Amino acid sequence: MPALIKKNMKKTKKLNSKLILIFASLLIVALAIIPLVGCDFLFDLFETTSTNQPPSDAFDGGLRVTFLDVGQADAALVQFPGGEKMLIDAGRWNLTHNQFRQDIRAFFPTGEMRFDWFIATHSHADHIGSAAYIVNNSYIRNVIRTKTFTQAEIDSGHYRSFGIPEGEARLHQTATHQNFVTALETSMWHDGTPTNIDIPRAGDYFYVGTNSATRARVTFYSPTTHRYSGAVQVNRYSTIFCIYFNGRRIMFTGDSYVYNENRILSTLPTNIDVLDVSHHGSNTSSNEAFVNRLNPTYAIIQVGTTATGNSYHHPHQVVLNRLNAINATIYRTDLHGNIVVDISICGVYLQVTPSRE
Ligand SMILES: [Zn+2]
Repeated sequence: MPALIKKNMKKTKKLNSKLILIFASLLIVALAIIPLVGCDFLFDLFETTSTNQPPSDAFDGGLRVTFLDVGQADAALVQFPGGEKMLIDAGRWNLTHNQFRQDIRAFFPTGEMRFDWFIATHSHADHIGSAAYIVNNSYIRNVIRTKTFTQAEIDSGHYRSFGIPEGEARLHQTATHQNFVTALETSMWHDGTPTNIDIPRAGDYFYVGTNSATRARVTFYSPTTHRYSGAVQVNRYSTIFCIYFNGRRIMFTGDSYVYNENRILSTLPTNIDVLDVSHHGSNTSSNEAFVNRLNPTYAIIQVGTTATGNSYHHPHQVVLNRLNAINATIYRTDLHGNIVVDISICGVYLQVTPSRE
């Protein structure tokens, strides 16, 4: 090989070494000051645009959502960068293949469960099946409860302080729900502070995390104050909310219904990253306008097999067709097991990992 090229190669090697050193130094400085100044400067520095290609290294401790495979039921755990945990629904109980209570404990190696937030989307048993168990066996800082009240709470007029009409407060009163509310009476955070209990309305929001650079915002879009008439299902009052984290958006919908989807349509974000598909993929939800507006990159369907209570043939083909029409990548807990969504601490990449291919 001619010397000149060799020389140049040596030069290039030296130059590469220098560049690597400079790059590594910049990266170390950048990572060190993220908590202080936020992530935006990183985008400028590396001229990075959002991409779905994960870097080769492991998850960087950003935001992680695990959709648990709990059969024909919902349960998801959100882990925030500051260590906060949010449980969204608590599965079903008394079904043959229900793994929820075992699976949720796996996130707490010390055995002590703490949830900064527990959101119950509505009072059907496939969403609050183990809600009382969670409350009785965990420290919980905040609970978003459902719009359903117990008979005792209705008799005492407690529901009125939330501005909820009696008819709605009575929707789907069951023993499972009664147990949940009874457990809440003595619920507390680990420092002995009583658990904050609230019912959101569209427009409400809160932040998770005290660091303004890495905190997440949770915004509610439903329930609204609209009163539905006729044979009203509790699904129409399902909590719908979005977690905003560093430019990424994950929408949760409970078992929302086409009526409340239509009502809130114009208030919803567009082109979201992940949609937790409503009502296990039922055709009573996820109408075309709703799905098209959200236009998710990924659609997660929490759904079970016939053996775990899916006698409804969820997800319905028409919903799958709508999601396919907008090129959403679909993952289902019945086919893919636990599904993990990772968003890097700067939102640069988003990765969805099923536990089964
Ligand atoms: Zn459901």
